Amino acid sequence: MRTIGLIGGMSWESTALYYKLINERVRDRLGKLHSAPLLLYSYDFQEIKQMQYAGRWQEAASSLAEVARRLESAGARAIVLCTNTMHKLAPEITSKLTIPFIHIGDATAERIRAKGYRRVGLLGTKFTMEEDFYIERLRAHDLDVLVPPADARADVNRIIYDELCLGVTAEPSRRRYQDVMAALVASGAECIILGCTEITMLVGQGDTTVETFDTTAIHAETAADFAIG
Ligand code: GLU
Repeated sequence: MRTIGLIGGMSWESTALYYKLINERVRDRLGKLHSAPLLLYSYDFQEIKQMQYAGRWQEAASSLAEVARRLESAGARAIVLCTNTMHKLAPEITSKLTIPFIHIGDATAERIRAKGYRRVGLLGTKFTMEEDFYIERLRAHDLDVLVPPADARADVNRIIYDELCLGVTAEPSRRRYQDVMAALVASGAECIILGCTEITMLVGQGDTTVETFDTTAIHAETAADFAIG
């Protein structure tokens, strides 16, 4: 198998899911005691959050690119960045690599297109829902992207940082996400992207009438499949 370099800790709650999901996929595909060869660099998320909210993206980019480069020199054969939001810095990271970077947006869009959907509803952090880097990546796969209105985006974002990244799943927050998804469906979304790697802790297929695409599971499976080769 090929070793995967994981850049995690954003938050560690979702990185723990990646670790489990990648290993489960390898076990399911290869059987016996097989598990994935992995290298993990796990950030202190408080430092990352401060950089995000202060707009210190260049500093974050240099740090992530350096970590990716170090994982490559330590033997990683591909890099997996365990967060949707920090894919904002994918160009800076990939420019320092000679190994593949498994992009979460591409992996997700390919699954959605394979199912024949075109209009997707997107949930994620405010950066993912409001900036171009993620939506444009999905559009490049011929997807039409709907995001919630401003007040809903603020709630979705707050619940991610103040609750899910701390491992808190609260019933009122689940209901809020259900309502936000229902509104996206009413506006024409044929499916919903859980476009933040912690959202799967709060809601899933049972919380909406359309198909959900869990970026954590999709990215982890894509990584495991790369490792297996
Ligand atoms: N894990 C989240 C994501 O997938 C948010 C945390 C972060 O800002 O990296 O976007």
